[in-house]
Amino acid sequence: MCGSVFEVEDFLMNTNVEQKIFGHAPDVIYNATLKKLYELENLMSFYRDDSEISLLNRFAGKAPVKVSGELMLILEQSQKFTILSGNAFNIMLSPIIQLWRKSGAENKLPSSECVKKVLALCSSENLVLDKNEQTAYLKKKGCMVDLGAIGKGFAADVCHEIYKNMGASSAFINLGGNVKALGNRPDGKQWTVGLQHPDKPRDTCYGVIMCADQSVVTSGAYERYQKIKGAKYHHIVDGKTGYPSGSNLKSATVISQSSMQADALSTAVFVLGLEKGADLIYNSDCAGAVFFTTDNKVYVTKDVKHNLGLIERLPCYKI
Ligand code: ADP
Ligand code: MG
Repeated sequence: MCGSVFEVEDFLMNTNVEQKIFGHAPDVIYNATLKKLYELENLMSFYRDDSEISLLNRFAGKAPVKVSGELMLILEQSQKFTILSGNAFNIMLSPIIQLWRKSGAENKLPSSECVKKVLALCSSENLVLDKNEQTAYLKKKGCMVDLGAIGKGFAADVCHEIYKNMGASSAFINLGGNVKALGNRPDGKQWTVGLQHPDKPRDTCYGVIMCADQSVVTSGAYERYQKIKGAKYHHIVDGKTGYPSGSNLKSATVISQSSMQADALSTAVFVLGLEKGADLIYNSDCAGAVFFTTDNKVYVTKDVKHNLGLIERLPCYKI
């Protein structure tokens, strides 16, 4: 190994960000990623009044807003993933996501009429992008964009580019569950990324994915949920019903060179369930996916079968 190593953990973009950077002056590379991550937070944060996303949301139904090249790219890619996934991934679901957050805070289920009414604002057609003018426009008052299911993936890709361009020999980032590796580990072996068991305490893995120059992203119902009248409601919404998705999956892991793609598609696959989710993966240029079903079976697509190592004894099938 040449150079040194820099390992650090920060809290950024509302999540834990763990980085391991190897090479010459890894601390300088780290400083560059940190600066960039703060910039991206200012761009994408739903909760900061001064972010580009908040400005776009405030001008819903009023006027198009100028957006940066980076935000335009994320919005364009989001629209692409919405089409590819048949609406399972949709950044326009924000009004319904906010409705469920409010319901959780008040411990009161929303009425089905209310869900239906709010869902009408969530059509992906209500977001109009104009590349020439570099503007984005939300057509109806009350429409909102939420990049919660894609923004961390984009940020992991940007950090990976910084590692590469600044000459890191090897690097690893875990941005709130969005993992991306540059090259192999310094010892020449592939990186191993743990797959969280959906029903077991945090950091209990049911398996690992071996990878180099790939991103691994998992979406699941187990991490973030709220209780309303004693029942659990998780944070991923099925845009067809307006309710937390109820597919036959406990978690979906997607492996792809692009962390943005893995992030968006892992959310989509989780909503679609095993069969349609597998179709989506085979129709994309992702490397593959691992599915953990509600009846505790593991399914893996054919090209990543050899990258999966099971730690737990679970029935495992190729799909
Ligand atoms: P996490 O951010 O917990 O790793 P995801 O990448 O699956 O998980 O993103 C979930 C977040 O994305 C939710 O908290 C919500 O803000 C938003 N979201 C929920 N359902 C959808 C959906 N069907 N499509 C796009 N975004 C969604
Ligand atoms: Mg996602």
